[in-house]
Amino acid sequence: MSDAPVLGILGGGQLAQMMARAARPLGISCIAIDPNPDACAASDAELWVNAYDDTAALQRLADRADAVTFEFENVPASSLEILAEKVRIAPSAEALRVSSDRIVEKRFFDSTGVAIGPYREVSSADELRAAVRELGLPAVVKSCSGGYDGKGQRVLRTEADAQAAADWIETTRCIYESFVSFDRELSIVACRSGDGDFVTYPLAENTHEQGMLVRSIAPADVTDETETQARRAARKIAERLGYVGVFAIEFFDVGGRLLANEMAPRVHNTGHWTIEGAGASQFENHVRAVMGLGLGPTRAIGHSEMLNIIGKRPGAGVLEGIEGAHLHDYAKAERRGRKIGHITVTDPDAGRCREKAEVIRGRLRNELPVD
Ligand code: AMP
Repeated sequence: MSDAPVLGILGGGQLAQMMARAARPLGISCIAIDPNPDACAASDAELWVNAYDDTAALQRLADRADAVTFEFENVPASSLEILAEKVRIAPSAEALRVSSDRIVEKRFFDSTGVAIGPYREVSSADELRAAVRELGLPAVVKSCSGGYDGKGQRVLRTEADAQAAADWIETTRCIYESFVSFDRELSIVACRSGDGDFVTYPLAENTHEQGMLVRSIAPADVTDETETQARRAARKIAERLGYVGVFAIEFFDVGGRLLANEMAPRVHNTGHWTIEGAGASQFENHVRAVMGLGLGPTRAIGHSEMLNIIGKRPGAGVLEGIEGAHLHDYAKAERRGRKIGHITVTDPDAGRCREKAEVIRGRLRNELPVD
């Protein structure tokens, strides 16, 4: 066993994989816990196949690791308590508590002075009817916890849609949000160290399809005023939570006013472009912050566009003839609707970056989806 510093990660998916890959040049090795024996982080981290609430495994991890972090926000609170007795965990249990429940998160945004759209908590057909009356339609109803990538949510356009959703809402605590007619979606990735150093990456402009991220363009073409709104929101959240590590906030841009949709207390898909496109990637900075190292530079290097690879692995020629394009294959099995990799294209010129990405998008579209 070497005496290199060790970072423990709960979760062994692609986020843990990319964290572990960024940790290695810093002389840090990673242990990832995941109940799935095929968890893809095994490529770069020591994988322990255990349940997230396996007390003995958590104890062992706390003994081995200098710090522990997470790649997803629904970590059992009891597991955090076990770890926190012995080892530094970042981000904190409080940050996870706030962001693992959509209602708690919205209230937190509101109390921190971060602008949000209108919403109601609904957990019965009566409350749903009242929300329809008060906030109107269209609306988006989302389960308060556990949903991701557009799962656990429905768009309600008509009274009939609302009636059809009533049974689901009777059994699931939900948030009813007014449908925001946004001009575009933006996100910010920020990082705070334990010493209180705070950095942000340039904003990304994001496209979602069926609730799932398909593309990020960075730096987004935004005014200083827009950038400032996002940075201010991120700083308020980081300071209020005494946050340590990377987090992301997704916004709706409505006529230049940013409304926060949600935050993720972890490295984020809309920050994947930073691997090639920024001085230090979000993964490196997260590892740095959690392990108590100084933060690296967040400025963009030219322009980047990130395309998610969903469901099916592209053919070998997907990047053919395109300079500055990088394929990240997470080595996950193909499955419809599953993120199995991403491509980042970079170029010093924004227009050329878009053109190159468009060629790759065309090639990805031509591939047949898996059944
Ligand atoms: P979420 O799971 O909250 O990140 O939502 C996934 C995606 O669904 C967002 O990125 C938006 O594209 C869309 N969406 C979610 N909530 C709303 C809303 N209140 N109004 C309009 N679109 C929404």
